[in-house]
Amino acid sequence: MDVIVIGGGIAGVATAYQLRAAGHRVCVVERHATVAQGATYGHSGIVLPTPLDVWFGPTFLRNGRQSSGGVICKTGFTGQARAFVKRLATLHGSEAFEARYALLRPLIESAQSVLEDAEGRFQLEYEQREGLLYLVRGSDEWSLTQPALELLRRFETPHHVLTPHECVAAEHTIPADPPFAGAVRFDQGRVANCPLFVKQLKQVLDTLGGVQFQTGREVSAVRIESQRAAVELAPRPDDASRTREVEVISADAVVVAAGAQTVNLLAPLGIKLPVYPLRMHTLNSPVAHEECVPHSTLIDAARRIAITRMNHRLRISGGAVLQHAKQLDEPLPESLTEEALALLGEASRDWAPGAARISAALAWEGMKLLSADGLPLVGSVGNPRLYVNAAHGPAGWALALGSARLIAQQISNTRPDLPAETIEALWPGRS
Ligand SMILES: Cc1cc2nc3c(=O)[nH]c(=O)nc-3n(C[C@H](O)[C@H](O)[C@H](O)COP(=O)(O)OP(=O)(O)OC[C@H]3O[C@@H](n4cnc5c(N)ncnc54)[C@H](O)[C@@H]3O)c2cc1C
Repeated sequence: MDVIVIGGGIAGVATAYQLRAAGHRVCVVERHATVAQGATYGHSGIVLPTPLDVWFGPTFLRNGRQSSGGVICKTGFTGQARAFVKRLATLHGSEAFEARYALLRPLIESAQSVLEDAEGRFQLEYEQREGLLYLVRGSDEWSLTQPALELLRRFETPHHVLTPHECVAAEHTIPADPPFAGAVRFDQGRVANCPLFVKQLKQVLDTLGGVQFQTGREVSAVRIESQRAAVELAPRPDDASRTREVEVISADAVVVAAGAQTVNLLAPLGIKLPVYPLRMHTLNSPVAHEECVPHSTLIDAARRIAITRMNHRLRISGGAVLQHAKQLDEPLPESLTEEALALLGEASRDWAPGAARISAALAWEGMKLLSADGLPLVGSVGNPRLYVNAAHGPAGWALALGSARLIAQQISNTRPDLPAETIEALWPGRS
């Protein structure tokens, strides 16, 4: 079949990779001049989510606007926003959290196997390294972390629970004062460079053939007809032709993997997705004192802020702001940007004092879609020729690889290797 993939982030490029492997011809349309320029660019490096990373559960968005819940919540007072936050709150209980994670788990395993396969097959080197250290501030947060620890035991994920003393002994850059409650260390937890991985995967596809990349082209509309699917391309900004006829590419199916823009592309087709935009921030800072830089990637567990080394800089990521859905394309008010960046600076000073030169840091922000049940949107929606691979949340770079495999299996009409209940839970048409 001929398949158009909209979006050249990790989700789009991974989908193209899987579709090609399944024997389809693929055209990826990306509005930027190259791939990996959206949320994929700003990742903090954590490859696969543990139960401590997922964006649902006991510690997530617990206290509304308070940063202890991981998110600055500014959704306004619409009924829709209230319902969204309320749905996330139903996953605070440990049973609901465990049930949801159990649905996600097969996707994580699938993503891991796709990653290992691609890595081995093409000898990909994308700055992989090991070592994740999750830090928990207070005793309240520590008790809310227990259901996640229970899941680590249940799924036999190798990890060490550390007292503050053990943690400071293992990572000497972490200060013992002010006191904190504890830590969880994953020696095999992987960190890597997501945009580098995506660019390498594109290079592999360029070499193998079968996937055409139309970069610098923006899809302005998706058309679904009974026999064909098509996308309309906006004129190139430098296109001086007077006719400015709409350029159309048609295919047998379209996969929308356009990150946060997925919502806007599907809305004219009457498809409303159960998601909200989440704006994430990063500070890319020069190293201030080399001896203060932690060996592991540090994660402030409840605040969901990661501090990771990327070559000669430190990247501090998090500061999520949940907004009203209509604000997707509007800039964030300055005061909220400052609040989000202040949280990042604070985390850096608390957990890695002296490591980052925050005053010289460059700020970046990226949009992600978050679903009310914390799971991505993957599968066919509205029409058998239309698919979505989006809303992987802020812990979703490698997850998109597993989702891509599912979409390729669905388009090829082959038996998916994920359990039926997981496929149902990922269905983009859910309310
Ligand atoms: C600050 C930050 C830190 C993060 N940290 C981590 C982490 O440590 N671990 C983790 O697993 N995940 C992390 N994430 C999440 C992860 O980066 C995302 O889940 C993943 O990159 C999403 O990829 P995507 O392809 O769906 O979206 P994107 O990367 O946003 O790609 C969508 C692409 O579609 C293109 N597009 C949109 N509309 C159109 C159109 N109309 N026509 C053509 N092209 C279009 C865009 O230009 C873009 O390139 C983080 C995200 C952020 C923002």
